[in-house]
Amino acid sequence: MIIAIDAGHYRSTPGKRCMKKLDPNETREWILNDRMARHVEALLADYECTVLRCDDRTGEKDTELYERAAKANRAGAAAFISIHHNAGVNGQSGGGICVFRAENASETTKKFQKAVYDETVSRTGLKGNRATPLPVTNHTVTYNAKMPSILGEFGFMDSSTDVPIILTEEFSKQCAAGIVAALVDIFKIKKKEIKKMDKFPDIKDSGYRDYINRAAELGLMQGFADGSFRPNEPVTRGMLAAVAVRLKEGKGGK
Ligand SMILES: [Zn+2]
Repeated sequence: MIIAIDAGHYRSTPGKRCMKKLDPNETREWILNDRMARHVEALLADYECTVLRCDDRTGEKDTELYERAAKANRAGAAAFISIHHNAGVNGQSGGGICVFRAENASETTKKFQKAVYDETVSRTGLKGNRATPLPVTNHTVTYNAKMPSILGEFGFMDSSTDVPIILTEEFSKQCAAGIVAALVDIFKIKKKEIKKMDKFPDIKDSGYRDYINRAAELGLMQGFADGSFRPNEPVTRGMLAAVAVRLKEGKGGK
């Protein structure tokens, strides 16, 4: 299953930024969109799906809106979510999250739209008092994407209430968690089975877990007699020699 996401705009889009009076750094919208997109991607890594970024993840180039939808269509993505931050309250205190869908949306899209709204608002408390929570607008991306697709505006970059919140890493992570919870619920995405971790329970928490698993699979390293790997124990010269020779002779190598 492919989940398509895009961080709205690109780094240098004119105008799209936090209001200077509220954020002296005038943080660019793409920076906020990209941060949230990365959190979504990191959380989805634990699930049986692949994430397709439909914008340029370096932020250097603007990907045309139609092309973003076309990319998701070509890949046969199961769902599409476009991540944005809003503007339009001109320094006032109103704002909040709103999630758009296109007019031609399916029932699944409507459920997806509501789920993203509910899951992000419940985690962040950023309930809109200015924004219509679930608006219908034919944005180029959601209108042209063939799969259930929504566009989320996660707070206002010119709201005195929202700006201090949306600038935080915590908010970005909470929204991402809400987006992922909605995706998992609506598209029934399964959590990845973690068989490898069960095979060597003692390496569960090691930062080198994947390397140890791979070295074991390739036959380059062996566990102790009890099946454990004890990832924090030192390697003796003898063990290193064994690994070196196995590597040199291509034994176990696939
Ligand atoms: Zn935007």
